Amino acid sequence: MDTDTIRGEDERKMIAGGAHRAFISRWENGHVRVLLVEDELRMASLIRRGLLKEGLAVDVTPTGEDALWMAQASEYDAIVLDVMLPGISGFETCERLRKSSVWAPVLMLTARDSVEDRVMGLDTGADDYLVKPFAFAELLARLRALVRRGDVERPSVLEVGDLRLDPATRRVWRGDTEIQLSAKEFAVLETFMRRPEEVLTRDHLLDHAWDFSYENRSNIVDVYVRHLRSKIDLPFGRRSLETIRGVGYRLRASDPA
Ligand code: CA
Repeated sequence: MDTDTIRGEDERKMIAGGAHRAFISRWENGHVRVLLVEDELRMASLIRRGLLKEGLAVDVTPTGEDALWMAQASEYDAIVLDVMLPGISGFETCERLRKSSVWAPVLMLTARDSVEDRVMGLDTGADDYLVKPFAFAELLARLRALVRRGDVERPSVLEVGDLRLDPATRRVWRGDTEIQLSAKEFAVLETFMRRPEEVLTRDHLLDHAWDFSYENRSNIVDVYVRHLRSKIDLPFGRRSLETIRGVGYRLRASDPA
């Protein structure tokens, strides 16, 4: 089967369009602009027609090379990026977009339902992926979620001061020194590093670093913050993890004076 095409059934859904109108107002007002990177003409024109029907503005290019300059020349609300492209692949395109500080949400279209592909896509900075063949309704739903989220800066390696955290390889460094963390310590630190200089409440930390609730909700956070301090701060004579009394904690790029 040619996996680079949409099945007939989905195609009809796509052409029918229109049925998925319960969208956010920005979407409804037609202010959403999408860059579609797809070399298969038929696929590209089907997706383009479907998105136009939803009132979105769509630019199409068949190559990653073009996508790189187009995404820097215009501000897109989302980029739909096929993995299999002539020239540089969708993976490389995504990586280079992020390196050139283009943070528009990327929805990757992968032809193979392979876990490695999906992981690789997300590690190169993509925000979501769809496996071909897919239903157009699903493409719309994913796009809507991405556009709602917006283009917050999501560098693949997080840096706060001289602290670096790589979510892909799950490694952490203070300066040149690598730090060994447990899985949960890593999750807590990642939560802090995604919001540096912000005061995070214990509830925020619990929601982002734990996927189920503990009975003693506050205490567990305090315990993990102590663990983290003993690994990322104390050995380096630093005090980057600040306690904000009565509120929560804050990770500082430079130590408080
Ligand atoms: Ca392709």
